[in-house]
Amino acid sequence: MKSVKVVQKSLVFEGLGIIVSQKPSKYMRINVRPSRGSSQPIIKLTCPPNATDETIMEFLHTHRAWISRVCDRFMQTRENTWEVLQSHSDEVLLFGQWVSALSLKELRSRLHEYALQRANIFAGSMGVCFSKLAVRTSRTRFGSCTHDRLSLSILLAFVPKEEIDYVIIHELAHIVHKNHSAQFWGLVGAHCPQWKSLRQSLKSRYGLLIALLDKLEQASPTQAPQASPQSRNADIGSQLLFEF
Ligand SMILES: [Zn+2]
Repeated sequence: MKSVKVVQKSLVFEGLGIIVSQKPSKYMRINVRPSRGSSQPIIKLTCPPNATDETIMEFLHTHRAWISRVCDRFMQTRENTWEVLQSHSDEVLLFGQWVSALSLKELRSRLHEYALQRANIFAGSMGVCFSKLAVRTSRTRFGSCTHDRLSLSILLAFVPKEEIDYVIIHELAHIVHKNHSAQFWGLVGAHCPQWKSLRQSLKSRYGLLIALLDKLEQASPTQAPQASPQSRNADIGSQLLFEF
């Protein structure tokens, strides 16, 4: 694999810490996501290697209202999440229902069993083949597809089955379309007509899902998070993060 030179630096913009990552890319974009153990979200700006500090600051100024709105929303979500976890202190979500606490190992195997069965059904109706389906401890993407291998995040064990189905269909569609083109969404829509609302629902619950995973990992510290595989189609960008 060709190595890509990435230069990282950090800067402060209106009191917010921002990670700037300069790498070969056509556009500048900002991702905001919750951080582990901190009340401040992680704000990451990706930009081409030739972007100057001036251009970066200009970009941040242009989108300052958006950045502030997203950060406020994160803080609010964090508070709501804390309240939800408090009221279900001995429980965990399994397929969208609160149940007596299960270990991460059990959740992983329940998700794998369900997803494999569904992926076989959808692959048949979509006319595609996949070679493998793995459940990983990915926090930054719900699913990914590399060639014909599917990878799903353990976070999906917490969400309703329809939302898991959407992610499976989304990843299977990447076997045909290695992008998020209109044709790609056409294929997803043909097999999952309500994909827009399911995607939105997943997005809106991301803070709670991460908090639940944190809680479970603290309860079973031997289960260290796995490194995410290099994937051609990483699906956090479009599904979870607030991109320009
Ligand atoms: Zn995708």
